[in-house]
Amino acid sequence: MSFLEYAAAPESRSILNLRENYGLFIDGKFVDGRGDAFTTISPADEAPIASIAYADEEDVDRAVAAARRAYDKVWSKMSGRDRGKYLFRIARLVQERARELAVAESLDNGKPIKESRDVDVPLVASWFFYYAGWADKLDYAGLGANPRAHGVAGQIIPWNFPLLMLAWKIAPALAAGNTVVLKPAETTPLSALIFAEILQQADLPAGVVNIVTGAGATGAALVRHPDVDKVAFTGSTGVGRDIAKAVAGTGKKVTLELGGKAANIVFDDAPIDQAVEGVVNGIFFNQGHVCCAGSRLLVQESIHDEVIDRLKTRLSTLRMGDPLDKNTDIGAINSAAQLARIRELSDIGEVEGAERWSADCVIPEKGFWFAPTIFTGVEASHRIAREEVFGPVLSVLTFRTPDEAIAKANNTPYGLSAGIWTDKGSRILAVADRLRAGVVWANTFNRFDPASPFGGYKESGYGREGGRHGLTAYLKGAAA
Ligand code: NAP
Ligand code: MG
Repeated sequence: MSFLEYAAAPESRSILNLRENYGLFIDGKFVDGRGDAFTTISPADEAPIASIAYADEEDVDRAVAAARRAYDKVWSKMSGRDRGKYLFRIARLVQERARELAVAESLDNGKPIKESRDVDVPLVASWFFYYAGWADKLDYAGLGANPRAHGVAGQIIPWNFPLLMLAWKIAPALAAGNTVVLKPAETTPLSALIFAEILQQADLPAGVVNIVTGAGATGAALVRHPDVDKVAFTGSTGVGRDIAKAVAGTGKKVTLELGGKAANIVFDDAPIDQAVEGVVNGIFFNQGHVCCAGSRLLVQESIHDEVIDRLKTRLSTLRMGDPLDKNTDIGAINSAAQLARIRELSDIGEVEGAERWSADCVIPEKGFWFAPTIFTGVEASHRIAREEVFGPVLSVLTFRTPDEAIAKANNTPYGLSAGIWTDKGSRILAVADRLRAGVVWANTFNRFDPASPFGGYKESGYGREGGRHGLTAYLKGAAA
């Protein structure tokens, strides 16, 4: 061990009170699913964690019926002030059980504990606190004369931020007065099920939130259920398209938060070390499993070599390994399927002529791993410049003028986020104004706040989550 290495510092799993089997959470209780139960594993070592119930169409129907009853009999009659009390209670319980939730999330998803502990779980609590504050103020916020909920919301979330995406969906829906049926992703159901225990602890009336685990077919059944009034989806553009088709003409409201291929633009006057740190955070945070990841680095030609040198030096210091180790910077890839996709696109990048460099990491023997990788000499036509890799892979392109940077940044079917690194405030404003992206960060990246709306243009989807905008998706007739 060299003097620069750290001793192992694993977070203890003993805080987890795992059950061997988890049922579906319907009408306030855990119940058996009708489909064949499946096992959720830890992507870091492929070890089984727990058996998870599989909801088929009939189970989804039971969950929607429970949500409808809860809406009609309890939730729609409750004052906003009382709904807010439940949301505050949930927020406090999330804080109380924060360590347990962080360990569960890192175990099931593969993300480093320092991220689940310091980013995901605190943001989950902040989302519930924030929307708790809105519940009794809907009448006073320009949301229409008598803002009313849609009714039952069907919500489908991906595996990259399992608990955070749950919070982004459930908190505004409940604040606005809807009841919920939520489907977590197949590979990461655990934190949602612990969250269901928190709902029991909070005495949330039965049926207000129902959680149906399963696979894609479970989500498809939820989207198509005739008694669902509003569909909220976060996931891939392909499934988003399928959902848009399924709800077309039904009168259901829909918001879609889909993929991205964000440009992170570094101008020659940027503070380079700070920018390099931001580029690393932009694409290697959460192993690059981030819809708004800065996966395309656009660097001004005059500083290209210097930025790439410093980037490689920095990447060589990142520690990859056990997600539960507090020193870990890069955790496991979430699934074998995702690893295969990252490998495939990276191989194509080489074949198409870009130059590949990977950090020299020790890859653990078991589990799913991919070393942080940079492609230089990437051209706009390369697939690694156009398609979402959704992994720790950065494509580097160059530009000479601000106009060229903006044109290249906007040359994508997506439009979720972007980053600008420069010393000049006037340049930040001028460039941000011309970027077709829902969120533009300046001299920082991947910052989230419950008060700030988030969402995309073009193939990144439609609708906004977060802030007052995020409420409008859950209210009848409310304009953003
Ligand atoms: P995905 O395959 O679209 O899955 C997302 C969710 O949809 C999962 O719960 C999935 O269930 C479910 N699902 C699959 N097929 C379905 C169908 N036909 N009908 C209804 N639901 C269905 O995406 P993913 O691979 O899990 O997630 C990665 C993608 O999500 C990336 O493209 C990323 O950019 C995007 N994303 C976007 C945001 C955002 O806010 N814009 C945030 C995070 C991720 P199973 O997992 O059980 O198959
Ligand atoms: Mg898992």
